[in-house]
Amino acid sequence: MPREQHFFTLGNVKILTWIIGRRCKNMPKVIEAECVACGACVDVCPQDAIVMEDVAVIIQDKCVDCSACVDECPSDAIVE
Ligand code: SF4
Ligand code: SF4
Repeated sequence: MPREQHFFTLGNVKILTWIIGRRCKNMPKVIEAECVACGACVDVCPQDAIVMEDVAVIIQDKCVDCSACVDECPSDAIVE
């Protein structure tokens, strides 16, 4: 079977759809100008998906979109 036909199997289409769907959903983002680097979001995240640099940085691949950090942030610096 030619390589092009083999790639577009139903299983691969389902996997691609899942990846694209995950990338397109509204994941939380840090508004850098609003972050005061208090670390509250780092402490509350159940996935250890936030690291502190100059401001908080969300590791999107670890985030499960639970919104705990959004609720915890005292500066409203995380939005979805
Ligand atoms: S939404 Fe939940 S999992 Fe994602 S970074 Fe915030 S606290 Fe962590
Ligand atoms: S809780 Fe808000 S202000 Fe504090 S480090 Fe996280 S994003 Fe920044």
